[in-house]
Amino acid sequence: MISPSMLPLETPSPAHICPFDQACSYLEAAAKELKLDQGILEILSNPRKVITVSIPVKLDNGEIRVLAGHRVQHSDVLGPYKGGIRYHPAVTLREVSALAMLMTWKCALLGIPYGGAKGGIAIAPKSYSVGELERITRRFISELIKDIGPSVDIPAPDMGTSAREMAWMMDTYSVNVGHSVPGVVTGKPLSIGGSLGREMATGRGVMIVVREALKDQGKSLEGTRVVIQGFGNVGGAAAHLFHEAGAKVIAVSTGSGGVYSESGLDIPGVKAYMMENNKSLVGYPQAIAISNAELLILPCDVLIPAALENQITEENVNQIQARIVAEAANGPVTLAADRSLEARGVTVLPDILANAGGVVVSYLEWVQGLSYLFWDEERVNGEMEKLMVHAYHQVVEQSKKRQIPLRLAAYTLGVGRVAKALADRGLYP
Ligand code: GLU
Repeated sequence: MISPSMLPLETPSPAHICPFDQACSYLEAAAKELKLDQGILEILSNPRKVITVSIPVKLDNGEIRVLAGHRVQHSDVLGPYKGGIRYHPAVTLREVSALAMLMTWKCALLGIPYGGAKGGIAIAPKSYSVGELERITRRFISELIKDIGPSVDIPAPDMGTSAREMAWMMDTYSVNVGHSVPGVVTGKPLSIGGSLGREMATGRGVMIVVREALKDQGKSLEGTRVVIQGFGNVGGAAAHLFHEAGAKVIAVSTGSGGVYSESGLDIPGVKAYMMENNKSLVGYPQAIAISNAELLILPCDVLIPAALENQITEENVNQIQARIVAEAANGPVTLAADRSLEARGVTVLPDILANAGGVVVSYLEWVQGLSYLFWDEERVNGEMEKLMVHAYHQVVEQSKKRQIPLRLAAYTLGVGRVAKALADRGLYP
C-alpha cells in the first residue's frame, strides 16, 4: 500500500481502523481501475498542505487550555479548497486528512469547481460554554487567516459546528482583513449571506439519491422502511424529508441510543421530544428504546448511517438486513464490510455521492454571494437536485459500463477528473 509522506505525526494502533488508510485504499482501487500513473497516484495520496495550529483559550473559570486545531488541504487542482470544520472528541489529524481527501473526490464527482479540505478540533462542544466555543473558533480562524479565503479555502459546518460557528468565522476573518468577506465560509446564517436550503441540504441530497436508487429497482419512497443512525444536522433533516415523502421512518438514534417503532415514527414528535430533553431520545414514550448497535441490524429496506465512521464493520455486516445502505456519514462502512455488502448484492450509495448535497448547496451559497444575488428556496433545491440526480446517474452508468460497484464507480469519476486536470495543468516547475 502507498504510504503518503505528508502524515508522519500519528501512528494509529493496529486494532483501530485508520480512516486515512481506508481512504487511500479506495483511491488505489480507483487508480488501478483507471490505470493511473504511479506518480499521479502518489501526488493524489498526499494532502497538499497539512496545517496544525495551537489554540490557547481562556476558559470561563480563568484557566488557560491549549487545543490543537487542524486544517488539511488535500487538493486545489479543480478550484479553492472546500470542506467543513469538525468539533468532535474523536478528531485526529489522520481522520481530518481522510475527510479532506473525500472532499476532493466529492466535489469532482458533483462537478463543482472546488478542491478538498477538512478541519477539526478534538473537543466535545457540549463540554464548553458558548463563550468558550466562540473564543476557540475565533482564535482558530485567526491562526488560519493566511490559509483561507473565498478563492483559497472555504470552510463550512461539519459535525459539532453549525451556522453559529460560521458567523464567528466570517466575522473574525472580516475584522482581520478590514472588510466584510461573506464568501470565506459557507453554511452561514441567512442574515449574513447564507443560502436558503443549506441547513437541510445534506439530508435532502440523501433522500434524492435513495429515491433514485429505489426508482431504478422499480420501487418508490412511499411505504419504504427507513432506519437512520443519527438525528443531528444530517440524520434529522433526512428523517424529516423521508417522513414527509411518505416513507416509513422506523428507527432513529442519537449518540445515547435510539427509538424504534415497526409502524413508523412520528418524526416531528420525536424531534420535539429531543429538543425538550437535552438532545436525547431516552424516555420517548411512543416507541421502543434500542441501542445504536441494535438499530443497525433492524429489518428494513433502507439503512442510513448518518453519524460517525466505521459503524458497519466485519462484526455486524452479516446481520445487516437492509437492501440499500446510503452513507450519509463519511466512511460509515469499513473496507471489509463494504466487500461483504457487495458480495451479498446490497446497494451501497457511497458517501461521496450520498452526502454531497451539503457541499453542493455550499457551492450555490458561494455563487449567490459572489454574484450578489439571493435565490428563493425552490431555485436552490432545484439546482441541487439537478446536480445530485445527474451525478447519481453518472455513477450508475459508470458502474454498468465498467462492471464495478457504485463506490468504485463514484471514485473513478471523482479521481479521474482530478487526475485529468492534474495532467492538463502539468507539474510546476
Ligand atoms: N461538511 C460537509 C461535507 O462533509 C459540507 C462541506 C461544505 O459544505 O463545504 O460534505
